[in-house]
Amino acid sequence: MKVFKFGGASVNSVERIKNMAEIMRQYNGEKLMVIVSAMGKTTNALEKVTKAFCDGHKDEALFLFEQLKQQHLTTAKYLLVTNYLSCEVQLKDFFTEVEWLLHDKPVREYDYYYDQVVCAGELFSTSIVSHYLNEKGIANKWIDARDIIRTDDDFRDAVIDWKFTMNQVQNMIVPLFQENNIILTQGFIGATDENESTTLGREGSDYTAALFANMLDAESQTIWKDVESVMNADPKQFPGAVAIEELNYNEVIEMAYYGAQVIHPKTIKPLQNKGIPLYVKCFLDPSLKGTIIHDKPVHGLPPIIVLKENQVLLEMSSMDFSFVGEQHVSHLYHLMEKLHVKPNLTQNGAISFLCVIDEWPEKIEKLALEASSFLDVQVTKGLSLLTIRHYNKEIFEYLTQKKTILLRQQTPETIQVLLQQNRMDEIQNN
Ligand code: ASP
Ligand code: MG
Repeated sequence: MKVFKFGGASVNSVERIKNMAEIMRQYNGEKLMVIVSAMGKTTNALEKVTKAFCDGHKDEALFLFEQLKQQHLTTAKYLLVTNYLSCEVQLKDFFTEVEWLLHDKPVREYDYYYDQVVCAGELFSTSIVSHYLNEKGIANKWIDARDIIRTDDDFRDAVIDWKFTMNQVQNMIVPLFQENNIILTQGFIGATDENESTTLGREGSDYTAALFANMLDAESQTIWKDVESVMNADPKQFPGAVAIEELNYNEVIEMAYYGAQVIHPKTIKPLQNKGIPLYVKCFLDPSLKGTIIHDKPVHGLPPIIVLKENQVLLEMSSMDFSFVGEQHVSHLYHLMEKLHVKPNLTQNGAISFLCVIDEWPEKIEKLALEASSFLDVQVTKGLSLLTIRHYNKEIFEYLTQKKTILLRQQTPETIQVLLQQNRMDEIQNN
């Protein structure tokens, strides 16, 4: 059994969905667990719906949602003939689920609504894709991932209840594979024990796929992307980026940890634990080699560059110029744990503790507010965190020339610098 994951770009238009079906056709007769993301930029659009709703702009939220409904119905109309009506019925059920909520007033926290609304993107796309594949003779069974994937209620960053989910996989998915070659479901989403929808963090579909690969003891997982392979940098940020044909799990974990967008940070572990190889392949040209990620050592890697934008520096110093001691630092870590804030970089000095985190306004505000009861807090926004693995002097100097470095950390393998964001525009324009 193989696990496939098709990302948003692979299903973002009628043509792309047809292309995806052609890829699937090549695997005729094989057992496949297929995970599909929301179409194109749907997740971003649903985020806007949530924001409008939570800001109290109900009409705008409904209007934005209406646009998404029409887009999906139109796609379904172009793709489907015999299965159109059945698809429409399913889509309309999902529409109602969201609209029912949008007609209310927001009374709970933003992250809760986010998950209830944003999960719809995956439900829409999988409904359309599943109906289309079935119509084209690629028989598959559609599953609502929320019936399988159980999580806690840390909305937007939900944690999998491994045991419960494993049971569901054994009791529901495994038997289905006796009658079906292909099971198709959503990535990124799950549900709590109270049946509230949850999401696993942006780009979480890779993780969902890995979870299924692990629990089903898959022979491999393939992520179908619009790039030819994993690159040593994001080609949109660094046009000179080069392809990497082979990586090992640990390298990818490191890359993901530092913010490389290639593969979701949590994805590798479930595969590594069972030694399941991960292929990254291009859906535009499946004949390309792509990248294989496995557990064997890989030597001679090029410098791997990760640029994380929208970073915030929190500078926390003792109010009386005394040292920032363990009790301060421990208190800060407790706060971060409580607020689910993950620092991307921390540095402890004599009278200050520096901490770089993603720009997540609600959380930063809470963290800064609570920390300011025992430390002076300074917040600097709009920064970039540049990480280079396997760095050398030349590449480091090239990427940081004429830049303002606010913070720097270095090990023999990895160097990280915090830069003023406006300077990064120049790098990209070089
Ligand atoms: N649709 C979600 C996102 O865009 C999850 C995913 O595609 O992996 O982040
Ligand atoms: Mg995606």
